[in-house]
Amino acid sequence: SEVGSQKERVVTEEEWLQKWEMGNIGFHKEQGHPLLQKYLDVLLNGRSGLRIFFPLCGKAVEMKWLADMGHSVVGVEVSEQAVKEFFSEHSLPYCEEPVPEISGAKMFQSTSGNISLYCCSIYDLSSSIVGKFDGVWDRGALVAVNPRDRQRYASLIISLVEKNSSYLLVTVSYDPNKHKGPPFYVPESEIKSLFG
Ligand code: SAH
Repeated sequence: SEVGSQKERVVTEEEWLQKWEMGNIGFHKEQGHPLLQKYLDVLLNGRSGLRIFFPLCGKAVEMKWLADMGHSVVGVEVSEQAVKEFFSEHSLPYCEEPVPEISGAKMFQSTSGNISLYCCSIYDLSSSIVGKFDGVWDRGALVAVNPRDRQRYASLIISLVEKNSSYLLVTVSYDPNKHKGPPFYVPESEIKSLFG
């Protein structure tokens, strides 16, 4: 099938850590994403003081942006380097503490308290650990998930959101036979079947 060439592809956590170490992070953008600016009203829906989740957050600058608007931001990222670079590049003091429920995981929290980044695999999270969210910004997250893990990822996200939540998802459209990913090509039909 059209997406068959990507279906079996697996990028390990170790490979992601290496990308960070080597500085192969072409996915990171210094400027806030134009689509978040464009659809901010859809995400917020007139509400203030939201809890917003950033799956596979990297050091996305939009986390700082939303926190500065008074929202509370929670991210998850396997690379501790990415998490530390986020705080240092924004000159944000933080503290770090273990996450008792997840062995080996750490939580990095801005001293002001409104940005909490979990350093672990997203698959280690549950609503009993991180609570539920009013909004999700998914850029470079679903499309970075290994194709075989998409169902698990979507079910987890669904379990982490409140009933009246908004989920903004950015995907990329291209010929999956010409690039092995990530970012992977996730057809719209699959997004519909994953999230309904
Ligand atoms: N959303 C970010 C980063 C996208 S790249 C942005 O917009 O810039 C995908 C990120 O997911 C990488 O930083 C990688 O280290 C991280 N990652 C990959 N697998 C993960 C997993 N299972 N759990 C948490 N983070 C993961």
